[in-house]
Amino acid sequence: MIIFLILLFIVGAAIGSFLNVVIYRLPRHESIVAPGSRCPACDMPVSWYDNIPLLSFAWLRGRCRRCGQPISFWYPVVELLTAVLFVLAGWKFGSGAELLPPLLLIAALIAIFFIDLEHYIIPNAIVLPVAAVGLGLAIAVHPHRWAELLAAGAISGVFFLVLALIKPGGMGMGDVKLALALGFFLGKAVIVAMFAAFLLGALTGVALIAVRGKKMSSRLPFGPFLAVGAILALFYGPFLLDKYLGLIGS
Ligand SMILES: [Zn+2]
Repeated sequence: MIIFLILLFIVGAAIGSFLNVVIYRLPRHESIVAPGSRCPACDMPVSWYDNIPLLSFAWLRGRCRRCGQPISFWYPVVELLTAVLFVLAGWKFGSGAELLPPLLLIAALIAIFFIDLEHYIIPNAIVLPVAAVGLGLAIAVHPHRWAELLAAGAISGVFFLVLALIKPGGMGMGDVKLALALGFFLGKAVIVAMFAAFLLGALTGVALIAVRGKKMSSRLPFGPFLAVGAILALFYGPFLLDKYLGLIGS
């Protein structure tokens, strides 16, 4: 088991390195396969030994080998975050097929979190394939839950569609598609993801107003809150849902 978790950490760091490329290039409409990585300051191609997840950043001390410009601190953060969440998923879901949907979901949510935070978009190129593959994969792994997964996706998608239609400028269509995908992955635990997302969004809004001392003019993207809520629901959703339903029932 320990060896499996160490393997997951290494795979997670490598996937995180790929997610960095997706996060940087996808919103800029650049190819994610070619050309290879380059220093954004001096355009020097990054050689393979300077492109090893986490380690290269450490031994280059966060600077380009040629021009010495700082490399964004977010690259190793994304790699470490992916690696840690992959290990936690392996710890929780084991080494069987049940681990595949959580790993796919985690990778997609990390990309969506950072892209939506910076660019205010949730790219179709991520959310649509993830929704389709996620539904197929989730039903293949949990055949007896197909009705629940389909219904959870449909209901959460429609819920966000209604929100987007009654308050334009609030939710976007990207949030609607993400909510659909989350229902497919999480089933009824998607309620926990929504609840956590709205709570986090409200708290962050209040905190920002408190810090800036006046009403914000800029709006916050909702995708990052949905992503954090979904991670919480992935690990604790069924547990929290049972607790809550238990409270209602007693
Ligand atoms: Zn450079």
